Formats: sequence, C-alpha cells, structure tokens
Amino acid sequence: MKILICDKIAPEVVEELKKLGDVVYKTGMDPEELKREIADAHVAVVRSATKLRREILQEAKNLKLIVRAGVGLDNIDLEAARELGIEVRNTPAATSISVAELVLGLMLSAARMIPMAYASMKEHKWEKKKFQGTELYGKTLGVIGFGRIGREVAKRALGFGMKVLWFDVMDVKTDLPVERADFDTLLSSSDFITLHVPLIPQTKYLINSEAISKMKDGAVLVNAARGGVVEERAVLEALESGKLGFYCVDVYEKEPTDNFALVDHPRVIPTPHIGASTREGQLRAGMEVVKIVKEFFA
Ligand code: NAD
Repeated sequence: MKILICDKIAPEVVEELKKLGDVVYKTGMDPEELKREIADAHVAVVRSATKLRREILQEAKNLKLIVRAGVGLDNIDLEAARELGIEVRNTPAATSISVAELVLGLMLSAARMIPMAYASMKEHKWEKKKFQGTELYGKTLGVIGFGRIGREVAKRALGFGMKVLWFDVMDVKTDLPVERADFDTLLSSSDFITLHVPLIPQTKYLINSEAISKMKDGAVLVNAARGGVVEERAVLEALESGKLGFYCVDVYEKEPTDNFALVDHPRVIPTPHIGASTREGQLRAGMEVVKIVKEFFA
C-alpha cells in the first residue's frame, strides 16, 4: 500500500505510517509532480497546503482514502472525491484545545494590550500610562457556535471569572454554567465576542455592519473560525469609527491576506492562521490519521 504524505506531518506520525505501508513523504509538490505521485497511491495524507482538485484526483487511479490532518476540507474537491469513490476523513477534535488557548491568548492580548506594550518596549520606550487595560474577570463573553472549540473556549473563560453566553443553531447539551442567548441578545450583551462556526453559506458575513451595530461600544471581536464569517470591510469601518474596540484575528477572507489596511490597524491583533499549530495539536491530529488509516484498511 502506498501512503502519500503531501504536507508537513510530525516525524512520529510518519514513523507510525511506515508500519502500515510504503510511505512517500513529499511536501510542496507542484501539480504535475503531485499528479505523478498520487497516480499509484492508495492513501493521501494532507493538511491545508496541498490542494486536491478534480484534475489531480482524476489521476489517482488507486486512491481509496484521503485523510486531512485537521478540520477544514476546503482544499479537497469533495464532490469529485465522492464521484470517484474516494473516502475523505478529517480529525476534527484533535486541535480544539490549541485553538481555544489561542483565543484566550488573543482576548488577553486585547484586554491588556500585550502586543502593543511589547512593540513599545522594543522601541525602548516606557509608556506605562498608555497601557491601562481591562480585566476579563466579570466581563461577558459571547460564543457564537457552541461546538467543540466554542465549548473549550467557554470552559477557559469561566476559569477567568467571565459570564458566558452562547448562540448556536443546534441544541447543544452542556453542564457548564453558561447561558444560551439569541444572536441579537448575545451581540448586545457581550464585552468579548468569539466566533466558532464553520464557513458555510449561512455563516458567510455573519458579522457584517448590521451585526456590529448591535454590539456594545468598544466590544472586542475574535475570529479564529474562518475568514469570510466576518466582513473585513465592515470591521475596519467599525474600528475607525470607534464602535469596535479590538479585532483579534487568526483567519482572513484571503490567505495569505493582503488586506494590510486591516492588519496594520493599531487595534487589530493579527496572527497568521496558527490556531491549530501546536506541537500537541499536530501530534494528536497525526496520531488520529494513523488510526483512521489502520481502521479503514482493517
Ligand atoms: P464544530 O462543528 O464542533 O462546531 C461548530 C458549531 O457551529 C456547531 O455546534 C454548529 O451547530 C454551529 N453552527 C453552524 N452554523 C451556525 C450558524 N449559522 N449560527 C450559529 N452556529 C452555527 O466545529 P469546531 O471543531 O468547534 O470548529 C469550529 C470552526 O473553527 C471550524 O469550522 C473551523 O472553521 C475553525 N477552525 C479554525 C482553526 C484555526 O486554525 N484557526 C482550527 C480548527 C478549526
């Protein structure tokens, strides 16, 4: 069995996959090389970098299984895979804690202006008065999308003494001391708002000018879900008018982003889509890949 690993995977995971088949581990392949390598592969393992479009999948005559180490399947042509009888699996739970911890980091960064204080110190300034922040304690966090990541964020926010409101289209069962709210109530009652919905037609621009107008003045918005859930143009306007306090963002409408008006705004705290990028998250995702491959061929 040929297992083609197309994106960077933890070495421990590569070793485990070698026990299951003949591993070819090549990252950064151009489409022609990818077509050649995938032609006789039985399993393809990808993260987000490799794009498995129809024209690539059509060359994959032996391919039975694509495993995405991670969540989003936007880099795989799911319709083509289905038509060609190729099963597609992902590892949705492996990186939830990593993303949740980044979200708390971003919230604290905004509350205490840590990135701004850091930049000021690096310029050899001592701007003690400029960086009076706010506490998370006693503030309300609105979690939009109360799935795996949303609930992990809520748990941690409760640890900081925050009140947590959540909104979801599904009836989510939870034992956490949190309160369900409708969308508008969440927007108007929250000091911090964090997004954890997938990007689907119903969530495209969920946060637009109208939604922002319902938020508290000075609210902090965090997006570590997907670019496109937030309308960047509307956020920039709201930052400029002072309506929005901070925008903490890990994901962009276009990646890598070229929206430098957004990135350069002094009250935008940007990271380059690193939510799932932790040693533990990637190892967990990789080990889940191994389990999926094992079970699939058992
Ligand atoms: P999940 O499926 O467990 O939870 C998503 C929740 O959103 C579900 O409960 C669903 O009912 C809800 N939802 C769907 N449509 C909605 C709507 N219109 N309004 C309100 N709620 C809605 O997913 P998850 O594992 O928690 O991941 C959430 C998102 O985080 C993923 O879809 C992915 O886009 C993103 N993500 C980002 C990173 C990163 O690196 N920043 C890493 C992993 C995942």
